[in-house]
Amino acid sequence: MTNPTAAKAQASELTLPLSKENSDWLKSTIRDIPDFPKPGIIFKDITTLLKDPKAFAFAVDVISEHVRKHNVDYVVGIEARGFILGSVVAYNLNKGFIPIRKPNKLPYKVERVEYDLEYGKDSVEVHIDAASKGHKVALLDDLLATGGTAAAAYSLLTKLGAEVSTIGFITELGFLDGRKKLPANSDIFSLITY
Ligand code: AMP
Repeated sequence: MTNPTAAKAQASELTLPLSKENSDWLKSTIRDIPDFPKPGIIFKDITTLLKDPKAFAFAVDVISEHVRKHNVDYVVGIEARGFILGSVVAYNLNKGFIPIRKPNKLPYKVERVEYDLEYGKDSVEVHIDAASKGHKVALLDDLLATGGTAAAAYSLLTKLGAEVSTIGFITELGFLDGRKKLPANSDIFSLITY
């Protein structure tokens, strides 16, 4: 298949790494917003990808096929864009979905992990009974930047006893070296890299 925008992608196109053509096409569906949320940051706006039915389906299908190989029990998404991605991947694979949320949003007892931001701290939470020892999970978010958020989410899941088999993103800002914060022995993947 040469033009993924023309029809649903063939199975051979759903494996990573993506062809340059598919990677360039997916990149073209993401909008750059300079100086958001603060000066100097180029925000990768995936609302334009999500609005494009072929790009959305393609991204979800590539991620689903990659996660499928790990035979996980649950798919975990990080608030908020990780929810959009993670829930459809979970549905695709007939698995349950686990949300990792910003502080004080989850109603039941939680585990919490704090992490450093450029200025100050943030934290992520998960319900204490979301997963436990013996469970294999896939952790998903839209974008890997410095890696702080995904690393905190990873420690949260390991605190519960779960095994994080794979950690995946649509987009990776490779120049920020976020992978260095993530466990060396995990399967870390992204569809497109800048
Ligand atoms: P980090 O913890 O630095 O890896 O940041 C990752 C989280 O922040 C993800 O949940 C992203 O959605 C968001 N994020 C960080 N930088 C950007 C960016 N340049 N464009 C879009 N989202 C970003």
